Amino acid sequence: MTTVLGCIADDFTGATDLAGLLARSGVQVSLRIGVPSELPKKTGPFEVIALKCRNAPVAQAVAECRAALVWLQAAGAKRFFWKYCSTFDCTDEGNIGPVAEALMSDLGIDQTIYCPAFPENGRSIFMGNLFVGQQPLAESSMRDHPLTPMRDSNLMRLLSPQVTKPVGLADRLSVAKGAAALRAKLDILKGEGIAHVVVDAVADPDLEIIAEACQNMSLMTGGSAVAKSLPALYLADGTLSADAPQMQKPEIAKETIILSGSCSAMTNAQVSEYIARGAPEYLLDPLSLIETGLDPVLAWLAEQDLTKAPLIYATAAPGNVKAAQRAIGVAKVGDLIEQTLASCAVAARDAGARRIIVAGGETSGAVTQALCVTQLDIGVEIASGVPWTFCHSAGHQIALTLKSGNFGAPTFFHDAQARLDNL
Ligand code: ADP
Repeated sequence: MTTVLGCIADDFTGATDLAGLLARSGVQVSLRIGVPSELPKKTGPFEVIALKCRNAPVAQAVAECRAALVWLQAAGAKRFFWKYCSTFDCTDEGNIGPVAEALMSDLGIDQTIYCPAFPENGRSIFMGNLFVGQQPLAESSMRDHPLTPMRDSNLMRLLSPQVTKPVGLADRLSVAKGAAALRAKLDILKGEGIAHVVVDAVADPDLEIIAEACQNMSLMTGGSAVAKSLPALYLADGTLSADAPQMQKPEIAKETIILSGSCSAMTNAQVSEYIARGAPEYLLDPLSLIETGLDPVLAWLAEQDLTKAPLIYATAAPGNVKAAQRAIGVAKVGDLIEQTLASCAVAARDAGARRIIVAGGETSGAVTQALCVTQLDIGVEIASGVPWTFCHSAGHQIALTLKSGNFGAPTFFHDAQARLDNL
């Protein structure tokens, strides 16, 4: 069917997060990894294109997002959403502003909004200042982010140097007056030549008002949360027909593999919890891997009963990770583990695994690439921001879930399986 909303996300887990929130509506949401090389054939009402351009050079990010826009327009979309991080991760140059301005120019529009707020996750905006929990952004841990250190909390000041047109604010007082009043405020700002409007939101009801006020804008920008109520609004005004395709709930065979390359604190807890259940497990040790190659782990995998959902993991405590990095090199050990887990995913699929659970953002990228997966249909949510997805790999329908670092409860690996059993 014709796409109703076309979304462009600046990284993969951000795309999954947005797709998962849209899918809470029960409507079909499709996620593409990169801009598809072919023009759209079969598209869904909500299409999300995951790019990897958060930290790319500005010109490259702009070019990729423009290409994504062209593809989404060919899918029939008339409304678009530019999704970036809820902590507004960017450098002085971009890429949030330059991409928004390029998309506005291509769409021939003179105003958009910026709303990275995600109250459920502690991101709120007041008087144009972004807060992480109770701290202003520039006093939060984002201050020392390795790639995009955020040293200012004021979104207008962050955005202004990135764009050529004026930046303004629709503050909480305007939002609190409701959707019609907010629309009127945006019109007044438009009359004053304000192209880029930061919009305050401190709680979910604010986001609902903003979504309602902006639902007919050609381009909205923000974190995923402000898009959450768009499906319901589109259904209510008939933009989305009541018989729009629904989320898939296919029956997927029980054979499962769990692959964990994340070393974050929550993944460490999840791996320990799963092992404590007595699940079959194989620890990948980077130094032994260099000596022996893939044979031992593949031999172990070949002997497993996949209905018992075995776990292969490199997940380790920070001290062990540092030691491996010192011995092998940060990039090299990362790549070694990612490629090993990717090979295990392919071997497990060929051995009959149809449910694949992956922990780790970079690890997920390596696994999807090895499985040649470029399109995912979003399914039920396992934990906030982590849905099951359904895709095809080597002619098989596969259920895949890709969990980044700190997402999910300690029981995540068990929860994921249970969620699919109880569709
Ligand atoms: P997260 O989402 O938690 O950041 P990622 O998969 O994005 O997880 O990143 C984890 C990185 O750590 C990957 O590059 C992975 O290959 C690497 N890694 C995993 N286990 C180990 C280990 N035992 N020693 C060193 N590096 C590791």
